[in-house]
Amino acid sequence: MANNDRCLFCRIANGEISARKVYEDDDVFAFEDINPQAPTHVLIIPRKHIASMDDLGDGDAAIIGTTLARAADIARTLHLNSDGYRLVVNTGEAAGQTVFHVHFHILGGRNMGWPPG
Ligand code: AMP
Ligand code: ZN
Repeated sequence: MANNDRCLFCRIANGEISARKVYEDDDVFAFEDINPQAPTHVLIIPRKHIASMDDLGDGDAAIIGTTLARAADIARTLHLNSDGYRLVVNTGEAAGQTVFHVHFHILGGRNMGWPPG
């Protein structure tokens, strides 16, 4: 599977850099955000290195669908679904993307404002 050995999140998924793992399987890896913005703040990534949503191709539809389905499973496992939770995908610098390996923030455990900042 495509990988980028200089990418922080590829290295976390490979186990080269430690993180607080929440879930993993052959397709995805999920871990606690190091700078949590909510009582629960988990990042889920596809193992495949895709830099951002802007780099998705038609061939990525299945892996992104799997990543979203696993995000929903994790939210249920962490009991975020009863009160509600938010999935966030920052895309590009103006949106606040700082790590260029596509990732979904799973945020829960508090009320969320809208519109987002
Ligand atoms: P974004 O700004 O949307 O690209 O999100 C990147 C997220 O990665 C931020 O919320 C960071 O706190 C988080 N992050 C950066 N480095 C690490 C790390 N080593 N372990 C866990 N989370 C990290
Ligand atoms: Zn990567």
